[in-house]
Amino acid sequence: MDNKYTILKNTFGYDAFREGQEVLVDSTLSGRDVLGIMPTGAGKSICFQVPALLFPGITLVVSPLISLMKDQVAALNQLGVHAAYINSSLTEGQYRKAMEFARRGQYKIIYVAPERLMTEAFQLLVQDVEVSMVAVDEAHCISQWGQDFRPSYLKIVEFIEMLPKRPVIAAYTATATKQVKEDIVCILGLCQPTLVVTGYDRKNLYFAVKKAKDKKGMLLGYLKKNGDKSGIIYCNTRKTVEEVWQCLIEEGYPAARYHAGLSDLERKQSQDDFIYDVRPVMVATNAFGMGIDKSNVRYVIHYNMPKDIESYYQEAGRAGRDGEPAECLLYYAGQDVKVNEFLIGIQSENSELDGEELELIKERDLGRLRKMAFYCFTNECLRDYILRYFGEYGSNYCGNCENCLTEFEDIDVTEEAFHILRLVQACHERYGINAVLDAVHGSDTAKVRQFGLKQNPEYGSLKGWALVRLRQVLNDLLVKGYLLLTNGDYPILKLTRLGRELISYGIGGSPPYGAGRGEVHKIILKLPKEREEAQSPKEEKKKKAQAEIRYPDLFELLRKRRYELAQKDHVPPYIIFSDKTLREMGASLPVTEGEMLAVNGVGKVKYEKYGRDFQEIIQDYARKKGIK
Ligand code: ADP
Ligand code: ZN
Repeated sequence: MDNKYTILKNTFGYDAFREGQEVLVDSTLSGRDVLGIMPTGAGKSICFQVPALLFPGITLVVSPLISLMKDQVAALNQLGVHAAYINSSLTEGQYRKAMEFARRGQYKIIYVAPERLMTEAFQLLVQDVEVSMVAVDEAHCISQWGQDFRPSYLKIVEFIEMLPKRPVIAAYTATATKQVKEDIVCILGLCQPTLVVTGYDRKNLYFAVKKAKDKKGMLLGYLKKNGDKSGIIYCNTRKTVEEVWQCLIEEGYPAARYHAGLSDLERKQSQDDFIYDVRPVMVATNAFGMGIDKSNVRYVIHYNMPKDIESYYQEAGRAGRDGEPAECLLYYAGQDVKVNEFLIGIQSENSELDGEELELIKERDLGRLRKMAFYCFTNECLRDYILRYFGEYGSNYCGNCENCLTEFEDIDVTEEAFHILRLVQACHERYGINAVLDAVHGSDTAKVRQFGLKQNPEYGSLKGWALVRLRQVLNDLLVKGYLLLTNGDYPILKLTRLGRELISYGIGGSPPYGAGRGEVHKIILKLPKEREEAQSPKEEKKKKAQAEIRYPDLFELLRKRRYELAQKDHVPPYIIFSDKTLREMGASLPVTEGEMLAVNGVGKVKYEKYGRDFQEIIQDYARKKGIK
């Protein structure tokens, strides 16, 4: 008799459930509704697929995206599970055939688009067959608070009510806000659901921010080392996509491109080329990625800073879904902030909302943009910054982001900070960053003259300091909340309570009461120690952190074989075996059936189909290299 463990091992090839999965599986199997809130890549599908294979009846999986359904069904078929999808991409003939098979009980799992649920044919079908579970994927689509509200999701409720017997309902999403959560429970009518929320942290992702004048040069440098891997390069405009793509093509990289300016056909081709690893490098706008389930994306580079942390984390999170190390790099330039401000501006021009609402939304968006920009300037742990943004508390040291791996030195900038704050105060908080910096630096610019800043008592008080350093200090004051920048077309620096307090202590002064009473209040700026890139401990540490591949040339051979098999079977390579699985093979060199089945990701059916192919390569390799 099968149970959840045998299904997990024999069908999916996994040894153990991940965090949260088992509770959800158990609850579903006992007939209790569930709501699983898990970040992308956490492994939501397993949570409903395992019970689906143990239930007597069929499981309907409601999913919003055609590409996602197709991918999941292909993956299940590869595992030997009978599954099908029903959506608008099927021809009339395919549709009728699928329905006929469904009626005969050929499928354990049927993926269905929400707008199909209430059609007559589907209604007839579910009167005839037993539906054991309805799994609602991307369940946040039911909430108007979510980003991708789909009215057709409301049909699910109607549908469930019409079933002869209420099945267990399992809802899954990666969106964790309170409103969305409440909407899902309430609108879907979940019955005292078991709620599982797993953390947002993705430990295998490495985060870094690169400040670059020459982004193209930097990208080419990166691809020189990583060009053979699959990755996504996100740009903020179609024009940039075209430029970067052109450049990569000229340099001989197998790059695909994707943006809203291409025809449907071109976009589809690009997407397939990417998924099937024909062109493993994708240059795209944020139009690309929804429903892309490619597990072996090894890096996501943001060529421009995105508009907020939500978008950033979602897009960057497309890296490393297989749990293997992957990199998320953000190329920052000051220009990116301006472009985003501009985009927020036109978005409100085109909107149908009225003045007041519009202003509110614009304020909110500018606020989010600012937090995104701070991410690019913080010297604290980058992962921690993101997690805190989503309301989680990290340890402030993750050991797998650029800042954690950089050696910083603490620089006391209290004096600089003090003069900047005093200047802001003395000019009655009326000017923006550049004017303030120019003035405190004693420059004679048009703005300084126009605003009469030469009369400011702090004018030129930091003459002789490097302007870049002063800019860093000012940014630090913003990040730490001593100053704030107003929203709007001409952002102005204002003092916060903290900033005013600092001025009142004076340099070398201390707070008269409260926690830091009697201690000299200092502003410490963390700056990276100047070092040569080549021998920096960062690179060394990073190399160590990224698990070494024992036989890199074998890994390449396995990858090549996987690619050939994928071509032959018309499936994306990662659906055959993930990078992680190949890497494990490359480390443990399995040459018998037992050894193969012990590898994470190798189940019985996949072993039958592909196991021997890979076994042979490994045997060959070991013989040639004289490895026992
Ligand atoms: P999500 O839908 O949450 O984004 P997926 O269901 O696509 O995530 O799973 C992400 C990856 O993790 C897939 O490659 C999947 O096969 C793998 N995975 C899921 N559960 C496990 C597990 N228990 N052990 C090993 N790998 C797993
Ligand atoms: Zn970190």
